[in-house]
Amino acid sequence: MLMRLQLYDLRVSYKSGKELYIADTLSRAYLKEQSEPLLEDELQVHALSVCLPISKEKLNTFRTATAEDKELHMVMEVVQSGWPADIRQVPADIRKYWTFREELTCSDGLLFKNWRIVEPQSLRADMLARIHESHLGIVKCKERARDVMFWPSMAKQIEHVVLKCAICNTFRWSNTKEPLICHDIPDRAWAKVGVDLFHFDRGEYLLCVDYFSKFPEIAKLTQTTSRHVVTALKSIFARHGIPNEVVSDNGPQFSSAEFGAFSENWEFVHTTSSPGFPQSNGQSERTVQTVKNLLKKAQESQRDPYTALLEYRNAPMDGVKLSPAQLLMGQRLKTKLPTSAQLLRPQLYRNVHKSIKSRQLKQKRYFDCVKKSRCGRLIIPPNLYSP
Ligand SMILES: [Zn+2]
Repeated sequence: MLMRLQLYDLRVSYKSGKELYIADTLSRAYLKEQSEPLLEDELQVHALSVCLPISKEKLNTFRTATAEDKELHMVMEVVQSGWPADIRQVPADIRKYWTFREELTCSDGLLFKNWRIVEPQSLRADMLARIHESHLGIVKCKERARDVMFWPSMAKQIEHVVLKCAICNTFRWSNTKEPLICHDIPDRAWAKVGVDLFHFDRGEYLLCVDYFSKFPEIAKLTQTTSRHVVTALKSIFARHGIPNEVVSDNGPQFSSAEFGAFSENWEFVHTTSSPGFPQSNGQSERTVQTVKNLLKKAQESQRDPYTALLEYRNAPMDGVKLSPAQLLMGQRLKTKLPTSAQLLRPQLYRNVHKSIKSRQLKQKRYFDCVKKSRCGRLIIPPNLYSP
């Protein structure tokens, strides 16, 4: 039954028996034909097991590690035989799984919690290293991990890893942010984007960020002329579409006649920040800081900057619970964290506008709380930004 329900997105609400007119009618109009439930169930189980899109060797590593994990082995036995009615009948070592017992499924030697793979003990250290490989902050690392995997006290262990990380500690206090202003949030992704230039490691870059999803695109520029900026933007717009509005500062690349012609030909409104109100390009400036921090940390730890960008784009945003990739592309991106195919399917995300707005207001409140201590060092509330 559970397998069959996985095909649907259900909302269950309680109605008393006398109100169940339709259900009552339909229960008498049953179908005469019986399908082949066994085959269908088998197919679903098969789909669940092969749905962890990793190599055969990796899949075998997961299976072996799960089989050798005493605790997971016990949980799987109980899941397969059925949970007892009383928690006192559950072996003490696995009582911590009791509260979410309905969410646990076993398949082909692996244990899942709501499509999130339950990691065996022996693989957790490797997973922790992968979760923090891109040096995202505590909040983002936790959200990112929770999105695809599970083990008891995972969040605490992630916190420990991030707080102990030498690279993150070096950059902790350099993460000062531009003033925050609450701009209007567009109705859809890629309707309004901010653009800005930045310098990193002797290179010049163009950044383009979506106001709705916060998805950042960056392009390395061989030259910073208006023509090169326009070409880089065309390449980005060819991928995501032409926005209604492009916001930039008054830099010469954006105030040129060439950029004016670009906005006219490609039919978007170009808004520039006024000299008296430079924060109106704050979204881009804040994203530049975030992206630069990611690149610096990747460089410092000799890691791939592209995986850092991938993880950042795929990390659920605090308060919204969806990542920039989900908001822009309607799906999670496959990364080095093992993710079931079910979670990688495209989805339609409704009613996200409200949560994006409340996240913005929360950030604004946090930002206003940021104050200087007596020694002049910036104090940033712990859960504020987590690039
Ligand atoms: Zn780190």
